[in-house]
Amino acid sequence: MATYALAMAGFSVVVLEAGPRFDPAHYPLNQKDWEAQPSAFHVPPKEGKKHLYTHGETEALDPSLSHLRSWTKALGPLHSSPTRMPPRIQRVKGVGGSTLHYQGEAHRFSPHGFQSQSQYGYGEDWPLTHKDLEPYYEKIEQWLGVAGDPRNPFKASRGPFPMTPHKLSCASQRVKKGFDKLGLHLSPNSLAILSQPLEDRPPCNYCNGCSLGCMMRAKSSMDVSLIPKAEATGRVTLIPNVHAHRITLNAQGKASGVLYFDHEKQEHRQRAKVVVVAAGALETPRLLLNSISKEYPEGLGNRHDVVGRYCMETIFQNSIALFSEPIHSYKGLQIDSRAWDFNAPSPGQTFQGGVVLGVSAGNFLGPFAYAQFVAPGWGKSHKDFMRTSFGNAINVFGIGEHLPHPDNRITLDPEVMDFYGVPVAKLVTTLKKNEREMLGFMARQTKAIAEAAGAKEIIGQESAYDLSAISHMGGTCRMGQDPRRSVVNQFCQTHDIANVFVMDNSSFVTQGGGDSPSLTIQALALRAADYLMDEAKKGGLT
Ligand SMILES: Cc1cc2nc3c(=O)[nH]c(=O)nc-3n(C[C@H](O)[C@H](O)[C@H](O)COP(=O)(O)OP(=O)(O)OC[C@H]3O[C@@H](n4cnc5c(N)ncnc54)[C@H](O)[C@@H]3O)c2cc1C
Repeated sequence: MATYALAMAGFSVVVLEAGPRFDPAHYPLNQKDWEAQPSAFHVPPKEGKKHLYTHGETEALDPSLSHLRSWTKALGPLHSSPTRMPPRIQRVKGVGGSTLHYQGEAHRFSPHGFQSQSQYGYGEDWPLTHKDLEPYYEKIEQWLGVAGDPRNPFKASRGPFPMTPHKLSCASQRVKKGFDKLGLHLSPNSLAILSQPLEDRPPCNYCNGCSLGCMMRAKSSMDVSLIPKAEATGRVTLIPNVHAHRITLNAQGKASGVLYFDHEKQEHRQRAKVVVVAAGALETPRLLLNSISKEYPEGLGNRHDVVGRYCMETIFQNSIALFSEPIHSYKGLQIDSRAWDFNAPSPGQTFQGGVVLGVSAGNFLGPFAYAQFVAPGWGKSHKDFMRTSFGNAINVFGIGEHLPHPDNRITLDPEVMDFYGVPVAKLVTTLKKNEREMLGFMARQTKAIAEAAGAKEIIGQESAYDLSAISHMGGTCRMGQDPRRSVVNQFCQTHDIANVFVMDNSSFVTQGGGDSPSLTIQALALRAADYLMDEAKKGGLT
């Protein structure tokens, strides 16, 4: 986002990207054996060392909470250890970053998402408000062609979306009956997935493969939406397959550029007047912590030991519902609908924070996965089950907020080096009582919805209680007014060095009541880029 804004405004930008360029034409989804192929963003084993991270000890699970554990009828327990699964961070390294396999959810955070402490007494307030981001949300929705329905009683009032909402899939319409019966409101999701043509890109064909790589280019991932436009200005030099490992300083204590390795481990120096770090909530703190110098022996921006702290993971819970009739769950969009009834805390709630519920075909797109997760057994009974029930299962799920906690953190692992000999990030993250309560709430809600919708059976549950799948990680270089408790200010500028900015998920203070983060990451970056350009013109950065 920042590259686009800066290049369009006449600035020269060099982008150092750790991953390759991916070509949507080569994603495997239209090949007959696509389920047997590695994912479009698979990292070959010899490259794996470029993507390493480690973790601390994981927490012991509480036997009295065994009802929260993950299982499926076909596979049994999905994690049988007495301790929680080690952190599994989901991301893509490549031009476009994790938007390559995101599901296109484009959520504006609700106003209370930025003021949870002053409005509800939990988390922390951001140093900015929804009003500050609104004009940026609006612009980005136009650029990405976001489709949605503005009539959402649980969200701030707003104008029309640039594109009409996607129609709910057959499966979502079926599950909506359960939401309706319980008085909950399942609405079309707001999605950066085209419902109408935009420039040279066609609308979605509802193949349901959003996170596997959108071959149609209907999903507005950064590689097909804004990066081509930024590069077309002639002012962007994008260098893929390189690893930035240190920000360098000049004699005045300002950043002078970045040191990076190419894939043959040759070190290069990129000089820069301003450095924007946007490596994601795991790699950004790692880069800052590895950027040690005489002035910053504890790492850049880390004068008060805040870099890496307040890490927030994804608190998810999912009930798998099997219907007796076909609901065609393999067709549609991966997350075409959401219910925001619990996005703001409700009276009497036994935990702090918000939750957003939804419907997702998730891993039931193809018959291999379906057979593995849903259809038990072998031989005739298995085949009969597949013939009669393929497409009858669906996930009813919730994502809630992980409250920021200073002990949930990323440090450097002095024992483990990556392919280039640079210490990797080590993540320690635990769930507290609040997250467990929240998971219990989501388990009750999602089961009740599935049952009210008339599901024949709940055939499984996946829960962050014992599993880990961190897709919405954030908070490791959070923003704030107080340099002792935050790393960057409201414009994503580090408190320590005026010409170093952090424009990614790590600047998050809280998780907006369970909403998905990308649109807010982008809005923050666009706002920060405006500030950066104004300051640069005034000479205030160097
Ligand atoms: C399966 C899945 C589905 C998701 N669905 C949604 C959704 O529908 N809506 C939503 O809002 N969010 C979704 N998310 C989350 C969203 O994709 C991420 O929160 C978001 O993309 C994070 O943006 P970022 O800029 O912080 O990091 P990233 O998008 O991960 O970008 C970081 C980039 O930095 C590069 N990099 C890292 N280290 C270095 C280095 N040392 N040198 C050079 N380059 C480096 C990486 O290769 C990468 O390209 C999803 C995530 C997953 C995994």
